Parts: sequence; C-alpha cells; structure tokens
Amino acid sequence: MDDAFELYDNPNVLFPLADRLRKKAVGDIVTYIVNRNINFTNRCIGTCKFCAFKKEDGYILSIHDILEKTKEAVDVNATEVCIQGGLLADWDVSNYCEILESIKKVYPHIHIHAFSPMEVFHAARNSNLSYKETLLRLRASGLGSMPGTAAEILVDRVREEICPDKLTAHEWMEIITTAHYSGIPTTATIMYGHIETLAERIEHLFIIRDIQKKTGGFTEFVPLPFMPSNNLLGEGNHISRGFEDLKFHALARVLLYPYIKNIQASWVKMGTELAQSALMCGANDLGGTLMEEKISKSAGATNGEYMAPDDFGKMIRQINRIPRQRDTLYGQVG
Ligand code: SF4
Repeated sequence: MDDAFELYDNPNVLFPLADRLRKKAVGDIVTYIVNRNINFTNRCIGTCKFCAFKKEDGYILSIHDILEKTKEAVDVNATEVCIQGGLLADWDVSNYCEILESIKKVYPHIHIHAFSPMEVFHAARNSNLSYKETLLRLRASGLGSMPGTAAEILVDRVREEICPDKLTAHEWMEIITTAHYSGIPTTATIMYGHIETLAERIEHLFIIRDIQKKTGGFTEFVPLPFMPSNNLLGEGNHISRGFEDLKFHALARVLLYPYIKNIQASWVKMGTELAQSALMCGANDLGGTLMEEKISKSAGATNGEYMAPDDFGKMIRQINRIPRQRDTLYGQVG
C-alpha cells in the first residue's frame, strides 16, 4: 500500500513504468470491439446518488424493440450486444432469461454481454434463487459474459454514502466470483473521483487483483471517472479531468500487473484525446463502438454515441500503435 502511494505521487516514475508493463503484457496492439449498448429500461427502484439515468416515467423496451436494436448491431457487424437496465420491481430471473433467449433464437452468433452484479442480485432475490442458480439459468439462456459494473468503490463506507440500497462490496465479490466459477467471465470496473480516498481506490484495486488471482475470470479492468452532471452526488462539483485520470490508469496497470492484461480507457467518459493519452500511460484497449450510450450521456458526457472502427484506427495510429478489432473475450476479429 505504501509503495502504491509513493508511486502515485511520482508520475515521472509511474508513467514510464506503466507504459513498460503495458508493452510487456500486450505489446503495441490497441484493441476495440464493435458492439452496441442496449439499455432496456431507465425505470429503476434503486436510489444511487450518482445516477443520472433513471426516470420515474421512463421507458421499458419490448422484446420486439430489443430485437430491432440487435438487428441494427448485427447489420454493422457487431460481435456483441451489451445489455443493462434499471431494476424493475416485479422482474425476476425469467424476465432476464427471456431477453437472452429471444436474442439467441434469432441471432445465435452474437455474444451477449449482459446484466450487472446488481441485476443478478435483484433477479436472485425476486426469484428466491441462489446466485449460483440464477447465474446458471442466465448462462443456459445465452449469457456469454457480464459487465463488472455496480462495483463503484468496493468499500462499504463509500457505498453506504453513495448507494446505500445497492449490494454490498462482499455481495458484489460473491456474485462475480460465482460467475467466474460458473464459466461466465466478467469485466472489472471502478467508478472513481467522488468521495473516496486514494487509499480506498487502492483497496479496490487489491480486491480485484485478489479475485483475479483466484479465478482468472476478469477480461479487463475499466476505470470509469465519475460524471458529475444531473445527479445528487455531483451537485455543485466541477471535476476537471486530466492528469489524475492518467495517474489512476497508470496505477491500475502497475498494481494489476501481471494478473490483468487489459486496461481499458473509456473514450465515452474521458473523451478521445484523454483516452489517447491514457493509452500512453498503461492502457491498451478503447472499449466499444457502442452506437448508443445513454448512461454516461445522462450524466454529462459530451462525447458522441458512436465511434466508427475507422475512427478508432486513426486515433490509435496517431500515437504509433497498432489497431485491432477484438471480440468480447479478446479474440481477434477479421
Ligand atoms: S445506478 Fe443503476 S441501480 Fe442505481 S439508481 Fe441508477 S439505474 Fe438504478
């Protein structure tokens, strides 16, 4: 822990070290995925203070709507649909399974990356099933992998303040570990830059590293900077993005090395220029083309809803690295 603090305070050491470890882990290739986000509802019984997404009178997409959106993704050769939504009071595991099965029936080859640990927790609770039973039902219905979202900061002091009704840090870890052991890989995320201390961020990184040592089930780590607009937690705060974000991406590369190979820079949250800089400070992946990204936009992200593969290519070549399209599990596409 002390070493991590010292490193964080010495960017002249931290940045070159992170860049060197990135090169050792993955070379000069920068990956991205052609995918689409489908947020099936923005209604939610949750009370997270950082949420700018939920709406009392929001929408719920029908299965027909979800299939239309999947078709649009398939038409641009997407390999993945990423499906998440708010928590609907009366939904149980069968509603989640219905989405998966309906998509797989029509588009058997598309990879479905779906449902956060919070959604799995909600489905299990409403269905009176264990996490394991819930996850196995979802997998049998076509779930390929899960976003490791709803992690926020994996320290209960912070969670009690920013999302008291959400699953606890321990429950998040249990669902993620159970998913990994049930053959469902996940990403790992952190939402940083609000009320947490640096020590709590570092604790979060160590938790992720320990899980990965045991299960090997994380595909990548995605630092998500907190977006302060249109939510209670961000009220009155102007957060300047930049150097701190780069330092944190670099620290994540160093502390997670060699257990997690892929560190993602989110162009949606950081913007393209800062994401490019993050690629020189330890990151090696740019995430997805997305087509539609409602969650960050509601919280004030100003970046577009779609980044074409050619634009990713340009962005990556500009910094003398090699672009490569990947699938969800980091296999090469094309
Ligand atoms: S962050 Fe997710 S769970 Fe929390 S209130 Fe918003 S939509 Fe609901």
